[in-house]
Amino acid sequence: MSSSKATLEKIVSLCKRRGFVYQSGEIYSGLNGVYDFGPLGALLKHNIKNKWLTCMMSFAEEVVLVDGSLLGSADVWKASGHLDNFSDPMVDCLQCKKRYRADDVDLEKNCPHCGNKNWTSVRQFNLMFKTELGAMADATSVAYLRPETAQAIFINFKNVMSSYRVKVPFGIAQIGKAFRNEITPKQFLFRMREFEQMEMEFFCKGEDADRFFELWVERRKQFFMQLGLTPERIRLRPHASDELAHYSKACIDVEYDFPFGWKELEGIANRADFDLTQHGKHAGKDLGVFDDATKSSYVPHVVECSVGVDRLFLTLLFDAYDEDEVDGETRTVLRLHPAIAPFTAAIMPLSSKISEQAEKIFLHLKTKGYRVQFDDGGSIGKRYRRQDEIGTPVCFTYDFDSETDGKVTVRNRDTMQQERVAIDGIEDYLKNLLAKN
Ligand code: ATP
Repeated sequence: MSSSKATLEKIVSLCKRRGFVYQSGEIYSGLNGVYDFGPLGALLKHNIKNKWLTCMMSFAEEVVLVDGSLLGSADVWKASGHLDNFSDPMVDCLQCKKRYRADDVDLEKNCPHCGNKNWTSVRQFNLMFKTELGAMADATSVAYLRPETAQAIFINFKNVMSSYRVKVPFGIAQIGKAFRNEITPKQFLFRMREFEQMEMEFFCKGEDADRFFELWVERRKQFFMQLGLTPERIRLRPHASDELAHYSKACIDVEYDFPFGWKELEGIANRADFDLTQHGKHAGKDLGVFDDATKSSYVPHVVECSVGVDRLFLTLLFDAYDEDEVDGETRTVLRLHPAIAPFTAAIMPLSSKISEQAEKIFLHLKTKGYRVQFDDGGSIGKRYRRQDEIGTPVCFTYDFDSETDGKVTVRNRDTMQQERVAIDGIEDYLKNLLAKN
């Protein structure tokens, strides 16, 4: 599925043109770093999340799902360390007033925007969005939009254990929005101010943490392979010891080779017992677990897997985007895995005269729960191109022979090969396609 033809401009344009992603508030002058997902984008996102959760829950160890609140009290963020440390270094150019993340510019050199060298000193800027609950503004009403989903998992650890009767080792997964007031949101969905994360915190005994860390790294790598990402564009980058948070025992980034360089797609970390210990201390609660074998209590260690839905969405588009030449014209094709493509198939009548029969097949598949689109506008070639561009893996065309032989022509997005299949066999055909790894 390798393609080096994708540029950020092409992806942004395709996303807007075909209804994957729009700038939020575009009819007013737009909101920087915030995006809305259109009909195709919302489906693609849904499919990504579905795949992630299915994968997370497919292993021998139990992984349960929670859905925590977006707002968290100052206590939560104090205990987690975000209030004190969740900041990026910021610097301004005094000449043109442009603001940068200090690690994005070389302060020994001139401002890349105006060419002058007149920097402010570097300040730390906390990335959390602060708000107030209720009508009375005082210290107790302060709340923050969560900058990551993980804390809702840690603060509910005891709730889950006691209400769900699950035993260590087990994982708690969550998919949901996170908010970061990024100094310079950029590269489209890569760095946003409002985004979605898929995080899984795996709780285990301290002596098992290294083993589970290795295991989850391997599982996460496999997940990206199953989504069809080009293996040469994925690499694992272990953090150097000076990059690690003081509590973290190990951390590996899964990186993707974006057109703007190798960048983090997912972070996998062995966080030791930091999170539960911190919350236990700050909340004054015992978050330890009783071990029947040793008859003593211990604080579980945590292995975290954290990936951005939107960043993975962008990665999949970059990886799937391809252009080839067909009949002297450039064809744009998204070679998305069938299980995550917004639509699995398009149903097309060759001519409007036989539209009704084709529509019957479409409605049958739709009511059976298949994601199918009906497309009867324009030449068949144009319709194929339209479906190629949104990643639909196959198109079924009902033609004049279909009336007599009970078959349709199925055309493959990637090979453009066509074959006849029985109308009765379409469902099995789609089932096989979706089951493909
Ligand atoms: P980066 O170094 O790129 O800022 P990070 O190390 O701060 O990322 P984490 O806090 O580990 O990121 O978040 C886990 C995942 O959430 C990231 O791997 C990424 O996929 C996603 N993510 C983080 N920040 C953003 C953002 N601003 N926009 C979109 N996705 C994000």
